[in-house]
Amino acid sequence: MKPSEEIAMATIIEMKNVSKRYDDGFEALTNLNLKIESGKFYSILGPSGSGKTTVLRIIAGFSDITSGALYFDNQNITDMPANQRKVNTVFQDYALFPHLNVFDNIAFGLKLKKRPKEEIKEKVANALEKVRLPQHSDREISELSGGQKQRIAIARAIVNEPKVLLLDESLSALDKKLRKDMQYQLRRLQKDLGITFVFVTHDQEEALALSDEIFIMNEGKIIQNGTATDIYDEPVNRFVAEFIGESNIVDGVMKVDYSVEFVGKTFECADAGMQQNEPVHVVLRPEDLDITLVDEGKLTVTIVSQMFLGNHFEVNAVDEDGNQWLIHATNSVSVGQKVGVYFDPEDIHVMRIGESQVDF
Ligand code: ATP
Repeated sequence: MKPSEEIAMATIIEMKNVSKRYDDGFEALTNLNLKIESGKFYSILGPSGSGKTTVLRIIAGFSDITSGALYFDNQNITDMPANQRKVNTVFQDYALFPHLNVFDNIAFGLKLKKRPKEEIKEKVANALEKVRLPQHSDREISELSGGQKQRIAIARAIVNEPKVLLLDESLSALDKKLRKDMQYQLRRLQKDLGITFVFVTHDQEEALALSDEIFIMNEGKIIQNGTATDIYDEPVNRFVAEFIGESNIVDGVMKVDYSVEFVGKTFECADAGMQQNEPVHVVLRPEDLDITLVDEGKLTVTIVSQMFLGNHFEVNAVDEDGNQWLIHATNSVSVGQKVGVYFDPEDIHVMRIGESQVDF
């Protein structure tokens, strides 16, 4: 490994056994462990109330922790004040000062630090260049679009040259089209700047599209972390399988390694390491299923409904055990028709029943 690659892979933030109990006694985080490497785009993804913002606020130093420790560049910063941390936050509402123009918003922190005028000018111009709004220095905040406000908020954060940028649901105020556009821009910006982004969202498509790595949270715990494809292809449990993408989940029994039984039949699969006769959840994604003749199918189902979605038919069906199946079929079928369902055994994913928490 080259020295530059070693630096790029270094752990920049680590949370060790962090628990957070708010003043009213509510435990928002429970023994949470998390490692963030420098130079990557991370998303923290989870349903409302799962603790995403709490994690971000703890990293930023806006919220203290009840037990555990927080490290930045291998230094314990659990008690370090927010303004001494090398992180900056972009808030959901951007928190721009409406009475100041773009230049003064971006320059605000540098002026507080009493930096020389020339340096401030140069840094603001540089930050505006990076967010691709070089001509907007004199604009009033009220004259900016939603997407431009977001970019100014990012410029204000990067002018301080943070090592980590924290973004809290920062695209949720934008309409769908602009949001997509900003997703590309954020991704490009992170790669251009080369600093670590930690992005909080409850939108799974957004997290899948943007991230090098995703942390999936539920009820104050990290349930899974990995790349988008790791998590999509191999969810660790039912919660993740249902939260990320669409899934068919049926009950099954692990027979031996690489062999699982569900809907009364035994199938080969790619999973191993479970007990013989251990009850499991079996996941098959709708896009991995197709419809065929009954004789050629691995399962037999009856069609309940069908919708044409442009590049495929979304078909709802039910099998002989009463399990519902969602299938992205190539060809049209008729409601009430009995058909076979075809899939490649490699696409069967078997999960242990029950929740797990990731530990490092
Ligand atoms: P959302 O997507 O809705 O913003 P989140 O995943 O970011 O949710 P948090 O804001 O971290 O969740 O909140 C986690 C839990 O902690 C929630 O149940 C919330 O009600 C609770 N909580 C947050 N702040 C406080 C507080 N100051 N006092 C008491 N409970 C709080």
